[in-house]
Amino acid sequence: MINFEYVRATDVADAVRQMAGDPRAKFVAGGTNLIDLMKMDVEQPTRVIDITRLPLKQVEPTPEGGLRIGALVRNTDLAYHPLVEKQYPMLSSAIMAGASQQLRNMASTGGNLLQRTRCAYFYDTATPCNKRTPGSGCSAIDGLNRGHAILGTSEACIATHPSDMCVAMTLLDATVHVTGPAGDRTIRFADFHRLPGDTPQRDTNLAPGEIVIAVGLPAKGFANNYTYLKIRDRLSYAFALVSIAAGLVLDGDTITEGRFALGGVAHKPWRDPNAEAELRGQPATAATFARAADVLLRNARGYKYNGFKIELARRCIVRGLTQAARGTPQSQSSKKIV
Ligand SMILES: Cc1cc2nc3c(=O)[nH]c(=O)nc-3n(C[C@H](O)[C@H](O)[C@H](O)COP(=O)(O)OP(=O)(O)OC[C@H]3O[C@@H](n4cnc5c(N)ncnc54)[C@H](O)[C@@H]3O)c2cc1C
Ligand code: SF4
Repeated sequence: MINFEYVRATDVADAVRQMAGDPRAKFVAGGTNLIDLMKMDVEQPTRVIDITRLPLKQVEPTPEGGLRIGALVRNTDLAYHPLVEKQYPMLSSAIMAGASQQLRNMASTGGNLLQRTRCAYFYDTATPCNKRTPGSGCSAIDGLNRGHAILGTSEACIATHPSDMCVAMTLLDATVHVTGPAGDRTIRFADFHRLPGDTPQRDTNLAPGEIVIAVGLPAKGFANNYTYLKIRDRLSYAFALVSIAAGLVLDGDTITEGRFALGGVAHKPWRDPNAEAELRGQPATAATFARAADVLLRNARGYKYNGFKIELARRCIVRGLTQAARGTPQSQSSKKIV
């Protein structure tokens, strides 16, 4: 048993103050990732700062027609929120594709952004892992890497980011509102998560001591032509091998705007402006979508066991965009389980 101190933050300023006093402290929200990591000795915080009582549980419309989602809004509450279901059904769908009902009932919006990779070596303290112990090596590059990344990898790490929700938020051009010792700032969602480079221990661009307080969504939600498609080994309770969030604006059969983001393929949700440019002004056909897939995957690299993901991603892109164009999003069941 590794001892740690448990404290409860009374407000956001108190949370920031408590964190600033101890660089090895960690915030805990739903605890669905952090507590597992502590049990496995992967995370060893000296102090756990409980933020669950902070007033960050609201989903509020913004004057610009978007939404502001508090960092402590639970995944279930967000997926079933009437404004999210109506304006951002792709986000509801992505959240419902993740984890299990019980986990979604506990997991918070901020925690989902900051959940750590599911690379098995990261969780196994008997093996080298640059993300867990910088400089120790990467066991996955020559190991069992079936679930690992095919885009944006480095010699130091080939892990993926496991979130579904973040793939939809990337597509929606969300923003992350944070505060910390240096004050408030807003980070574009696309810049929030990092590629591994030679510092895979850093998952995000959050500065030391900063706390996520909210996620902002702009007004555009692609509510008519969207999909979230998740390909995985089991139909539920499994992380994505490849997933896609797709959103189109159509004029007849012509695409006036098209976006798509992939999950399960990189250290962060993956979007490529050059691939999306292939969609603009083009007919919404499988041939158009295949061209966009080729552009997005032009630098994809497979390892010993995950080469299949390149073709899987290509097919996933064509199918996801086709579903979006047809207005058949193949959403997860949105039946509430009470
Ligand atoms: C078996 C299993 C299956 C899962 N399957 C999926 C899946 O398919 N798809 C998917 O997307 N997710 C999946 N998850 C992940 C789950 O969604 C995350 O564990 C959850 O979203 C984390 O949220 P939390 O509030 O519990 O975070 P916590 O465990 O409380 O915290 C996680 C990290 O975030 C930090 N943190 C939390 N809140 C803040 C904040 N406001 N500001 C700064 N730092 C913060 C903590 O310090 C910690 O480092 C699965 C989890 C499990 C256990
Ligand atoms: S892929 Fe990344 S997380 Fe997995 S063993 Fe290598 S360094 Fe660690």
